[in-house]
Amino acid sequence: MGSFACPHYDTAKDGCLRLKTDCVPGRRGCVLRGKSVFAFSAEERVRELEEEKKSKPSRRRR
Ligand code: SF4
Repeated sequence: MGSFACPHYDTAKDGCLRLKTDCVPGRRGCVLRGKSVFAFSAEERVRELEEEKKSKPSRRRR
């Protein structure tokens, strides 16, 4: 098990500054892509995240 600190990670927004979307290490465009091995593929984690978002009701402010 390991940990890392990515200079592109925006802690305030909990997302990727480089890709302007959710941080999923190893996803397409990520600096870690091809450099690290993950227990689950990045594509699988992105797909799960997208499904999770779809199932949650939006939190729009009025
Ligand atoms: S997706 Fe990759 S490049 Fe972006 S913040 Fe996460 S680890 Fe860094």
